This record gives sequence, structure tokens and C-alpha cells, in this order.
Amino acid sequence: MSLTSNSEHPGAPAQPTLTDTMAQRISQIQARMANACARVGRDPAEVALLPVSKTFDATAIREALALGFTRFGENRMQEVAQKAPLLVDCNVNWVVIGHLQTNKAKEVARYASELQSFDRLELAEALERRLQLEGRTLDVLVQVKTSTEDTKSGLEPAELVSFLRQLSQYPSLHVKGLMTMAVLSTDSSAVRKCFSQLRQLRDQAQQEAIAGISLERLSMGMSGDFELAIEEGSTEIRVGSAIFGSRVAPA
Ligand SMILES: *Cc1c(COP(=O)(O)O)cnc(C)c1O
Repeated sequence: MSLTSNSEHPGAPAQPTLTDTMAQRISQIQARMANACARVGRDPAEVALLPVSKTFDATAIREALALGFTRFGENRMQEVAQKAPLLVDCNVNWVVIGHLQTNKAKEVARYASELQSFDRLELAEALERRLQLEGRTLDVLVQVKTSTEDTKSGLEPAELVSFLRQLSQYPSLHVKGLMTMAVLSTDSSAVRKCFSQLRQLRDQAQQEAIAGISLERLSMGMSGDFELAIEEGSTEIRVGSAIFGSRVAPA
């Protein structure tokens, strides 16, 4: 058995079977990505695949590295700090995708190549100070809350433009685009609405022509809903379980 297409049920992640190799699972995902692109006339080269390795160990990451991936999504800095020393011989770019406490700014400034869950000025303050100390800059995506679920974090859509305008005070943060998590639902139209809202917010913000801000990237779509996200303009899908298998511990 292989990955089942689940665009009818976006809330239910496709479950890879244990008999498939990681390479097989990834090529099945890439085929589904290409099909989604074809449905809406997009070039598959416009959509990147970010493996989300949270809860999976360094061995699993090495397997993905051998297949050519270098960026890995993680949601806890503690976990990055544990895995990074085991992978010092590899060129891993850690992409932080989970809600970040301000007191973790130091670790992010030191270890992360990118932050996709950037959602408040308090965090910008802390990151700017730490990045200047490290002599580094950081690519960031602004996470926007497109779902009404309380468990989802992110900036309120109405605050986006004024938030972006204030970021010129933080020259070490390089804003590249927006990120969202869709509502967890079996209603594909509700899921699709989250993705189309993010794209519209991006288009509106681009029209404001805010100095120093260019929002090329839209990080949206996960194992259970990436086809809908691609159809709505995603430039990058964040995929964990469909590549690495089901997570045992809640992430
Ligand atoms: C865990 C996680 C993902 C990947 O989820 P899967 O359903 O395993 O693909 C994507 N984005 C964020 C923000 C996550 O926390």
C-alpha cells in the first residue's frame, strides 16, 4: 500500500506504511505535489518541500539528508539543541516552525537558519538584540492566524500591515513571507479558506509597498492538507508524518 490521496479529507494526514522506504514516501509526496500544481497550472519548481523532523531522531534526519534535504522543520529549540551536536558533520539548516517563547531568542539567534513562527514585536526585540550579539541575520516568515481555533497561534490578520511597518526597526530580521496553519477539519472548503486568506493578505500587504518588505514566500500546507495549500498558492509545504511516519509523542 502506498500513500493515499486525501484531498477529500484534508484533516486526516495520509499515513505512509512502514514497508515503504523514506525515498518512496518522498517520491509519492512529490508526485502528489506535481499533480496539485498541474491542476492549477503552476510550475512544480515553485513549491518546496520542507521535511518536519520534530520528535524524530538524528538517524531519521540523516536518512533525509542522504536524499538531498538540508532544511529541517522543528518546533522546540530544546530538541534542536539535542540533535544538532549529533549532526555537526552535516550541513543542517534548522527551520523553527513552532510557537516560540521570548526566552528562547538566544538559541534561535545562535542555531536557527530561519524562523517561520514569528508573530510578535516582543520576539523581534529579543531576536534583534541576540542577532546583533551573534553578528547574524535571520530570515523570518510572519505567522498569521487564519483559523479561529484557540490552539493556533499567529498574528491577527487585521494587524499584519501595521506589524510589517514596524519591522524596519529590526534590521537583523529579514522578512521573506507569511506562514499559516489551516484549521484542522474534514471540511476541505474550510481548510482551503485559510490558505486563500493567507494569499490574499499577502497580496494586500504587497500593495502597501512597505519599505524593505517583500513577501514572496507562503509557507502553508502539511501532510493532511498540502494539495489544497498548493492549489491556493503555497510556495513551501511543511511535511512531517507523511515523510517520517506517525509521531508517537504529541509534538
Ligand atoms: C508538526 C508541524 C507540521 C507537520 O505536520 P504533519 O501533519 O506531520 O505533516 C507542519 N507545520 C507545523 C507548524 C507543525 O508544527
